[in-house]
Amino acid sequence: MPTYVFSCESCGHTEEIVRRVNGRDDPEPCSCGKNLYRRFTPTQTSVVPIFKSEYYPTFGKFIRNRHELNDEKKKYADANGSELIEVGNEKCTSKPKTKTVFDERRAAYELERAWKS
Ligand SMILES: [Zn+2]
Repeated sequence: MPTYVFSCESCGHTEEIVRRVNGRDDPEPCSCGKNLYRRFTPTQTSVVPIFKSEYYPTFGKFIRNRHELNDEKKKYADANGSELIEVGNEKCTSKPKTKTVFDERRAAYELERAWKS
């Protein structure tokens, strides 16, 4: 369970409290009789998924960020008349995955199909 910083608006008392994530905003009674509330603490967690720089054989180059990947995918789609679909971006029937993985096998399949047509 993560630790959260709580503080009292009335007396200024600050305390670190171990809480379950879904109960992190529940007030905690303060020794002064008021309540301790969770203080906003910036974390390293980002809402933007972290993009891992890697080599994409499909494009024959190193992709450093999502913007580049989207550009390459667009170029690929224009050149091949078919869109690349990332694993996790298919029409989903189950829970969405948090990690997006580029599917090389599918890309190769799409390429082959584009050549044959
Ligand atoms: Zn207090």
